[in-house]
Amino acid sequence: MAVVDEKTKEELKKEIARLMKIPGKSRTAILRSHIIAIRFKEGEEGVRKVEELMKELGYPINLSKIGVFGWEKDSWPIAVGLVAAKIFGWTDKDIFELGELAVKRSLLAKITLRHFLSPKKAFKEAPRLWKKYYNFGKLEPVEFNEKEKYLVLRTIRPRFHPSVCIYQRGYLAQIAKFVFGTEKIKVEETKCEFRGDPYHEYVIHWSEES
Ligand SMILES: [Zn+2]
Repeated sequence: MAVVDEKTKEELKKEIARLMKIPGKSRTAILRSHIIAIRFKEGEEGVRKVEELMKELGYPINLSKIGVFGWEKDSWPIAVGLVAAKIFGWTDKDIFELGELAVKRSLLAKITLRHFLSPKKAFKEAPRLWKKYYNFGKLEPVEFNEKEKYLVLRTIRPRFHPSVCIYQRGYLAQIAKFVFGTEKIKVEETKCEFRGDPYHEYVIHWSEES
């Protein structure tokens, strides 16, 4: 377990203060899925550690009391993710996994996804799916290429944090695994606001299971 030194704590404090100024709410299901993922990866002790550091940084939160259907600032799950990453020394791979776990372990996500009869329908429904979870930004379907087996999605959202891009890549990968019924999914972020593009664009490649 990584030691969070004073300098890192100061950086986190500053970053969370910046995040909290950004308006935009998400379903507490998102925050809850982060907590479930932390528990899965680091145990109950891990959840307690995140809670402790959040409190120390000036953002006390009771992580065991988060429901699914409420709305809170989306800065909360992002802050919790950043704090967890520092405590446990998480890499981008762990953040990606957080996105995957959010879909894998969410009943709401599974219920929603069950409604889709085909990947193409799910693709077209992406904007509505986004609206179920976020009161800001959007998720736009751009291209569905059946022949070459890839699809393109675009998200527009406030400049929260680059870790959200990685989280979303994991999230989209797991949704694609569900709707295509295959583990052979590759998601690339081909355009990104943090690299100077006007939006974030994800290309999802799939191949049928042999
Ligand atoms: Zn991005």
